[in-house]
Amino acid sequence: MRTQVAIVGAGPAGLLLGALLNRAGIDNLIIEQRSADYVLARIRAGVLEQTTVDLLDEAGVGERLHREGLPHGGIELSFAGMRHRIDFRAHTGKQVTVYGQTEVTRDLMQAREEAGLDTVYNADEVSVHDFDGTSPRVRYRLDGEPVEVDCDFIAGCDGFHGVCRASVPPSALHVFERAYPFGWLGLLSQTPPVSHELIYSSHPRGFSLCSMRSPTRSRYYLQCPLDDRAENWSDDAFWDELRRRIDPAAAQALVTGPSLEKSIAPLRSFVAEPMRFGRLFLAGDAAHIVPPTGAKGLNLAASDVGLLSRALADHYAGSDAGIDSYSERCLRRVWRAERFSWWFTSLMHQFPENGEFGHRMQMAELDYLVGSAAASTVLAENYVGLPLER
Ligand SMILES: Cc1cc2nc3c(=O)[nH]c(=O)nc-3n(C[C@H](O)[C@H](O)[C@H](O)COP(=O)(O)OP(=O)(O)OC[C@H]3O[C@@H](n4cnc5c(N)ncnc54)[C@H](O)[C@@H]3O)c2cc1C
Repeated sequence: MRTQVAIVGAGPAGLLLGALLNRAGIDNLIIEQRSADYVLARIRAGVLEQTTVDLLDEAGVGERLHREGLPHGGIELSFAGMRHRIDFRAHTGKQVTVYGQTEVTRDLMQAREEAGLDTVYNADEVSVHDFDGTSPRVRYRLDGEPVEVDCDFIAGCDGFHGVCRASVPPSALHVFERAYPFGWLGLLSQTPPVSHELIYSSHPRGFSLCSMRSPTRSRYYLQCPLDDRAENWSDDAFWDELRRRIDPAAAQALVTGPSLEKSIAPLRSFVAEPMRFGRLFLAGDAAHIVPPTGAKGLNLAASDVGLLSRALADHYAGSDAGIDSYSERCLRRVWRAERFSWWFTSLMHQFPENGEFGHRMQMAELDYLVGSAAASTVLAENYVGLPLER
């Protein structure tokens, strides 16, 4: 079998890349180890930067997003029992769109199917070969039968635990990592959100986030110990703890209901450099992870493949300048998002090891942040997303 670009992984990075390449007339095949239903059942990100919305429009899958996505012109920060709004539109003229990653994935999968493009699901033993030469290959097994795909390029869009980054010789990789001493316990419920915008709450009992997926579906998070387990939390225990961590007005307005899903995600900052090895390109979580506080994971994946699709289109049009600078251009944006995500995480969470002094520093910074137009602008500018290239 032969294709121009073999894409490993049908998460948002792989599916969006496939759609953008198709628009550019570049043949591609997506190879995914899980079933489509499994991929769609994963509950993850929900905040889209304008750059991501623009890329989804460019890929031709923005119609439902514009109909059902919720434009948000700000967020609220809650601390010391009070809520303070950071007005994105006033500070930057921009907004974000709340639209679940599951829905982005569903739209991309559906568009791919309608366009008759090939996606291999349930591929076993996926492996990548010869990407340091001119004829890379991807091998896998389907229903026990071996398959080999010859291609011009491999796009490693296979997430943090994927095979692509793991296939690069360790000596060629430089890895930067920080693990945080806590996780996020998330709960999804078919209940109206407590507020029409997200509430980020700093509280002595731990951080919490009131988020949403739609006007009738809410997503809430609690900072929890790393060794905690979702099974330890009844729905009632979750709602009681959330009420303690948010301001009294929000606690009173909170509508609770049975959980549709509960899970714990550890928080991590991670970057692997470079993002290109010969004819293998890494994109999205395969190359970098951010703690979800800054809502950047999905957006970074989208901007990586936005740059990669243009670079590959330029290659087929006769210029390799884009693929030669892909890694450098992505990493500049990645490190800015890493910095913002690390800073916002450090500001909002409880770090008992930092003691009372550390807590007072956080409170002083939050006080400054909501009282200073300059500081609020810095938060707003980073949250809505920096331009694709600057
Ligand atoms: C539990 C959780 C919660 C999150 N919450 C948020 C959030 O609230 N906000 C936010 O901004 N971000 C969040 N993120 C991050 C965000 O979801 C990711 O950044 C985003 O999914 C990255 O997309 P991706 O396509 O790069 O990787 P993924 O979504 O991980 O997709 C990779 C795909 O590759 C497939 N794959 C893996 N290995 C192989 C292989 N060997 N062969 C073939 N296919 C393979 C996987 O099955 C998967 O479908 C969360 C992530 C997790 C894990």
